[in-house]
Amino acid sequence: MPTGEVAVVGGGLIGLFSAHYLLERGYAVTVLEAGSGLGGGAARVNGGWVCPARSDPLPSWGVVRDGMRSLTSPGSGSFLLSARALPRVAGYLARFLASSSKGRFLRSWDDLDLLNRRTAGLVDELVEAGIIDALQDEGFLMLHSTRDEAEASRASLLAVSRRGLCPAPEPILERQALLELEPGLGDAAQVGFVHRGDRWLDPSRLVDRLGESLASRGVRPVRDTPVLALRQRGTSVELATRSGVVEASHAVIAAGAWSEQLLRPLGIRGYVTPGKGYSFTIHPEHPPTHVLRLGETHVGVTPMGDRTRVVGMVDLDGTPEGLHAGRIDVMKRKAAPYLSGIDWRASTDEQVGPRPMTPDGKPLIGCAPGAERIVVATGHNMLGLSLAAPTASLVADLVAHGPAAAVPAFDPMRFTDRRR
Ligand SMILES: Cc1cc2nc3c(=O)[nH]c(=O)nc-3n(C[C@H](O)[C@H](O)[C@H](O)COP(=O)(O)OP(=O)(O)OC[C@H]3O[C@@H](n4cnc5c(N)ncnc54)[C@H](O)[C@@H]3O)c2cc1C
Repeated sequence: MPTGEVAVVGGGLIGLFSAHYLLERGYAVTVLEAGSGLGGGAARVNGGWVCPARSDPLPSWGVVRDGMRSLTSPGSGSFLLSARALPRVAGYLARFLASSSKGRFLRSWDDLDLLNRRTAGLVDELVEAGIIDALQDEGFLMLHSTRDEAEASRASLLAVSRRGLCPAPEPILERQALLELEPGLGDAAQVGFVHRGDRWLDPSRLVDRLGESLASRGVRPVRDTPVLALRQRGTSVELATRSGVVEASHAVIAAGAWSEQLLRPLGIRGYVTPGKGYSFTIHPEHPPTHVLRLGETHVGVTPMGDRTRVVGMVDLDGTPEGLHAGRIDVMKRKAAPYLSGIDWRASTDEQVGPRPMTPDGKPLIGCAPGAERIVVATGHNMLGLSLAAPTASLVADLVAHGPAAAVPAFDPMRFTDRRR
């Protein structure tokens, strides 16, 4: 049986799932969380999609084009980059560009599939064990304004299905058939199709349920306790907090978009950069029953019980905090033509959360150099919910077996200049 207590830094998605798998392995666990509650970063804000089918990495020429457009006409794109933020995000962007070639994109996608292939099975086990709610699986409805757009989008999903992670998309439907599926569609939704294989849940309920499950097994998160630095000393790890030093046998860095400041003193340059996303609740006359993907807008709509959530945007302003109301207005403008019967001024629950972005779209998972008792698990970009269970299972392997369990594709040192 393992001995010692593992300190998990961050009570977000990766931290909470890691705590679960570490408990399963017989470790005692403490979760140290900077905020006043669990899920204070991007965990509760997100779209709730568990989508092994759409796990393509962000760096690609399409996104580079979108980003360039947002520099020249601010407020138009979904990948927002302001000239003012450039100095803060330049290191990330330079490496992002280098990762956007077709070859690099496809290799990163293959790497992400290594984790993704395990997602469905692990998530189903958690549902069966009663730890998380059952996921909804009525399908994603892809909506487009022209047939050409719909056919291109269907062809790309057909290619995705050949990777073996989801079935082929269903046939293309015209407007009348779409309205039979979802009566609340607006005029821009002329052509579309259903895609199955991805599922969804309410991420805030997920955080609460995981928190309750951990508490029932003796894990009481230590709130309002940001970890300021950590180091390995012999066979233990010391974590500095405002109220003193916490000692543990191992530590896991799962501090999401705030992780970079903990990585650098350990000699790791991960370029983990906040990519802020936004969500808000709308109150439609005809609430959707599918997840809706709204054409080329990169805005999505998720039914969550009696709520309907709109999500989108990657806002690279170089900071993890701060909600810009203008971003939400942009999302509303983009979404409005696709949906009818909505008073957009009556939206509620407007939130922002920082996605931990990495230059190649892949997470950093592995042991710190020369400090194998410190495990890094961050940088999950837009896929932290989808990849949380397989990541956390790998974290438990790394704590148990050290670097021998490492998966080279996720090496946290891959952006570090080792000559320094
Ligand atoms: C609008 C939006 C939509 C999204 N939609 C999806 C989706 O549909 N599917 C999907 O898979 N992913 C989605 N994501 C991405 C997903 O939410 C993130 O990838 C995921 O939350 C990352 O998990 P994490 O644990 O690394 O970070 P977080 O969940 O942000 O958690 C980090 C935690 O660490 C804490 N912390 C920070 N610094 C410290 C410190 N020094 N000491 C202690 N604690 C600290 C923070 O307070 C926070 O609680 C979306 C994100 C956004 C913003």
